[in-house]
Amino acid sequence: MTNLDTPLEKIFKIAAPEKKGLKKLGINTAKDLLFHFPSRYDDIAEIKNIAELKEGDDAIIYGKILTTKTSKAYRKKIPLTEATIKDQTGTIKAVWFHQAYIAKLLPAESFAKLKGKVTKSGSSMYLANPEFEKTKELPIDGSDSLFQKNKREAFFYPIYPESKGVSSRWLYHHIQEILKSGKLDSLKDPVPAEILKKYNLPTLKTAMVWIHSPKKETDAVVARKRFAFEEIFFIQLSRQSARKEYEKNPSFKIKISKENISKFIDRFPFSLTEAQQNSIEQITKDLASDKPMSRLLEGDVGSGKTAVAATTAYAVISTRPDGQDFGNLQVAYMAPTEILAKQHFESFIEYFKYLNINIGLITGSGCKKFPSKVNPEEATNISRAQLLKWVANGEIPILIGTHALIQKTVEFEDLAYVIIDEQHRFGTKQRMKLVRKDGRAPHLLSMTATPIPRTLALTIYGDLDLTLLDQMPKGRKQIMTEIVLPAQREKVYEKVHKELENGRQVYVICPRIDEPDPNKALALNVKSVKTEAKRLKKDIFQKYEIDILHSKMTPKDKEETMQDFTNGEIDILVATSVVEVGVNVPNATVIIIEGAERFGLAQLHQLRGRVLRSNHQAYCFCFADTKNKKSIARLKALKTAKNGFELSELDLNLRGAGELAGKKQWGISDLGMEAIKNIKMVEAARNEAREILQKDPEMKRDSALKERLSLEKTEVHFE
Ligand code: ADP
Ligand code: MG
Repeated sequence: MTNLDTPLEKIFKIAAPEKKGLKKLGINTAKDLLFHFPSRYDDIAEIKNIAELKEGDDAIIYGKILTTKTSKAYRKKIPLTEATIKDQTGTIKAVWFHQAYIAKLLPAESFAKLKGKVTKSGSSMYLANPEFEKTKELPIDGSDSLFQKNKREAFFYPIYPESKGVSSRWLYHHIQEILKSGKLDSLKDPVPAEILKKYNLPTLKTAMVWIHSPKKETDAVVARKRFAFEEIFFIQLSRQSARKEYEKNPSFKIKISKENISKFIDRFPFSLTEAQQNSIEQITKDLASDKPMSRLLEGDVGSGKTAVAATTAYAVISTRPDGQDFGNLQVAYMAPTEILAKQHFESFIEYFKYLNINIGLITGSGCKKFPSKVNPEEATNISRAQLLKWVANGEIPILIGTHALIQKTVEFEDLAYVIIDEQHRFGTKQRMKLVRKDGRAPHLLSMTATPIPRTLALTIYGDLDLTLLDQMPKGRKQIMTEIVLPAQREKVYEKVHKELENGRQVYVICPRIDEPDPNKALALNVKSVKTEAKRLKKDIFQKYEIDILHSKMTPKDKEETMQDFTNGEIDILVATSVVEVGVNVPNATVIIIEGAERFGLAQLHQLRGRVLRSNHQAYCFCFADTKNKKSIARLKALKTAKNGFELSELDLNLRGAGELAGKKQWGISDLGMEAIKNIKMVEAARNEAREILQKDPEMKRDSALKERLSLEKTEVHFE
């Protein structure tokens, strides 16, 4: 007996190329195949008769290939494939350049679906470089009546994410066989029936049939909605239950003295924004409770998160450990990179040095302590062993570091507060590691400058309360942002020259590291870090020191390059978007972004945050190599939007789910990202998850639900 967990090759005959393709798609079992959902559907109404085609149409046609031949075009000897296609209304030619192999794929007498632009040459028309798919037969049998609307329903068919060897057609037919086999009956629906009923969602079985073979458009829509809901619901359930689990542990009740906190703040060389004050209030309220806090502080680059972190850390270290009238509760502050950890260490020294307390720094490449015994104004290098000893006996109340900080070897005497900067998600496992042997758990504050839409935040941070720092300190200079079309390039380079002459530094961001294969480069027309750095040195900025930074460099090389840039030894840093995360070089006042139309608005906003640190006027030049009015209009939002949150909402509304990189960044599928666009659905999923955890925290009543929940991954995503 085969079932849904049976490997596909035991159910079907599978040839070697298909096997490879399936592996690439991550499909092993019948169940995997069922859960390989279509990315879209083709509607037969889009299909045109050849006789109807007009110049300029973006047309889809079906037909029989009459002839195919290859030749060399023009004097340039470009290889060329030509085919003649016939349907019941006429014939048309299709022409492909540079793709001689197509002739073999589409021999005479085969059937194909072609999609491309109708182009005119002299008096005849042809399809230029059309996409094509060989089909076993025509979807329509030659009678005109098939184009009538009432027949259309039967021809709504799915297009799947494909791989070499595995086409949509293959997937479709094999999925249909499984659906027909009755194996579906063994699939337990993990979403409780009451919930499905309440929101009018189909059962798993129905949805499975509808998503793969919708009879009408609404079938597909409703089925997708159900699976999207399911995904969001289980993320919520898993995050919320993790939080409940964490909250079972008592925490440290922090004594809050408003007066002392005010005194601490009064020493700052600036006054707090209202948003900062509100955040501090919310956080200190949480700290005063004996349940551990789980909170996310979300604020644009430069909105002043560190001041909030320092103030709340102050409240914690001014509280004595239980039953002691000496010593301090401890704070750990974790950063994603060494550079950032060092920066935080230095700002915390500024904030705390008047108090005469010890501050430690722990990173992969060494440890430091402030103050030094010899020079109380400075920090000093100490051994890891010495640092760990002072952390363990409580002599170092504030420890800053990379994630070395939460490793087992680091033992604290009384760790009461953990601050995590710029980590997308701090998983359940990491969190549970913080719980002490006596069962007490530290308060947790996560901070991020990655602006994300509210619905997404509510989902991926379903285990955290949300605080927004949506206000910038007064008197900040606005970055001058310009959308630059190719014709204006030279002018911009002149402006940049002036900045360089004044001693400022420049970032140039490119969408890729290496020049890809030259054919593709032509097609994509995308700049690469390495080639662009060479070109700038040779043609534009000969006098200046230019270097590169990208994700394929070793961490050590990256650090060194960043260090050189920080020290002013490099004038122009050509980089991929790796500079996105929190690097701070106040003298860098210009950022040029190549291929800006390829980035999301929120990401562009973050990139531009790199030049916000300075007292000098800062500039962001978004080079857009596109004539597409929509793309340019989208980029213009960078000049008008108030903050990163607004831009992230725009991204969500303007871009397709697939363009949001949900899977890579947040572990949410394209389908799930569709749900993220729908605030009602996200709230429903959130509320239902909460209700279940209230009524039945152990989920004893519903084994399918519990089983599905155990599949949720909650690992941390380090950048
Ligand atoms: P981020 O939110 O990006 O971590 P930081 O905490 O690093 O921002 O703050 C950026 C800069 O702004 C720092 O130099 C900090 O001293 C300063 N700053 C913070 N809050 C204020 C404020 N309310 N008014 C003026 N400057 C501030
Ligand atoms: Mg910061």
